[in-house]
Amino acid sequence: MSTTAKPTVKSYQNYINGQWVASSSGETFPVYDPSTEEVIAHVASATAADVDIAVKAARAAFDSGPWAQTTAQDRGRILFKIADKIRQNTAMLAELEARNCGKPIVEAEYDLADVATCFEYYGGLANKVTGHVNPVPANALSFTLREPMGVAAQIIPWNFPLLMAAWKLAPAIAAGCTCVLKPAEQTPLTAMELANWFEEVGLPPGVVNVVNGVGEVTGAALVAHPGVDKVAFTGSAAVGKIIVKSAADTLKRVTLELGGKSPNVFFADADWEAAVDGALFGVFINQGEVCSAGSRVLVEKKIYTKFVEAMTEKAKRIKLGPPLDRDTKMGPLVSKEQYDRVTSYLEIGKKEAKTAIGGGRAKAFAKGYYVEPTIFYDVQNSARIAREEIFGPVASVIPFENEAEAIRISNDTPYGLAAAVWTRDIYKAFRVVKSIRAGIVWVNHMQPTYVEAPWGGYKQSGFGRELGPWGLEEYLETKQVFVNLDETPIGWY
Ligand code: ADP
Ligand code: MG
Repeated sequence: MSTTAKPTVKSYQNYINGQWVASSSGETFPVYDPSTEEVIAHVASATAADVDIAVKAARAAFDSGPWAQTTAQDRGRILFKIADKIRQNTAMLAELEARNCGKPIVEAEYDLADVATCFEYYGGLANKVTGHVNPVPANALSFTLREPMGVAAQIIPWNFPLLMAAWKLAPAIAAGCTCVLKPAEQTPLTAMELANWFEEVGLPPGVVNVVNGVGEVTGAALVAHPGVDKVAFTGSAAVGKIIVKSAADTLKRVTLELGGKSPNVFFADADWEAAVDGALFGVFINQGEVCSAGSRVLVEKKIYTKFVEAMTEKAKRIKLGPPLDRDTKMGPLVSKEQYDRVTSYLEIGKKEAKTAIGGGRAKAFAKGYYVEPTIFYDVQNSARIAREEIFGPVASVIPFENEAEAIRISNDTPYGLAAAVWTRDIYKAFRVVKSIRAGIVWVNHMQPTYVEAPWGGYKQSGFGRELGPWGLEEYLETKQVFVNLDETPIGWY
């Protein structure tokens, strides 16, 4: 089923202090449907002055608004109400998400279920936060209070737009922080729809603000603002480094979830069908626009040739198509910029390695940023297509001789977000799990992500953890309270 009716081009303002407001410059930027290359919305660009108003609103809401008086139960209930809104409006949000980022509608629906679950999880966790009593000597009492970190600037990418907003907003609200969220300029629409419900679910003005604009202006103003206590960022390693430097001026707390070049390791004894499927799913889901994409496919030499052939045969059957078609398995890339970036890597790859399938634009489409699912093989781990994050449907297949070599190649990368290992041998599986320096390691699967389990990277894939109780910790400060129970003076002087 395909939706052909053209949606109206909507205009969105920024959501600041509980109001929809135009840009102080009057400027807007266009938002596109990457499958048609047509403009589907106009969004107000937040200037540094607009960001300043948003941060001050968040600051005031945190320092002196009613928000500080809310109980953890109140905040939990607000999060449940947000989840309800998402579940009631899944069809609208999933369609908007698919249309704006190009992902298949069925995948967008999975994302939306995860969005609602994330708000529910932190709704439930809000009133489970407790301190400790510390074992100091008997003439005193020491305990810890867990307090919200303050104003959080939250900058998110375009690959899972509303899910990344949920990963940021839900724990921050649960903790009692206030937020200024900046969606990616390519994909701001679902976050703006979400903001429509903030007042109704009971968020006081200023508690969650949403500002839009390009990273270099709106994002940079947010990170530099002295009124911000914490920056939570998901995006490229290059921008992560800029953010850390800027945030250092006022020593903001920073968490970063950056890219990867994750190894997906296949031993000869792996379950064959599951392995071939897992190799493709690991790198082609969401058009490969996934920070944890298994973009380095490491295959034991004994099965290498057959494995590349099987991957290639199966990849031929991946159905590219418009995001709103329910049988589409791969849509267009998110933007012209990303299309240019990925296709430039395809040219590099064709020189650096052999091409099993793909290598260019998907020619069946006259319009749209469609790229063929591409498998390069006989890739050296020193090649650019094995070292640099491409963020598109591009697999680099690398042979290995034995377990030691698989581990060495896996770790030979500046990144450390994720990895997967496929084998029926549990001894080998867990040896590899322990040897790989990455924040997430899957065994006989790749990509499953649950809100209950921590998410984040080693090395240049960032620091801090999202999801689960770890995600909430990143929005909490720890205050130690010491109570003297002994009335006699210190008697020192
Ligand atoms: P990509 O290159 O794929 O767009 P980015 O890391 O540039 O990935 O973007 C992720 C998010 O970071 C987006 O919301 C973007 O606007 C924002 N961003 C980009 N540059 C900066 C910057 N200098 N300061 C703050 N945020 C930025
Ligand atoms: Mg960018």
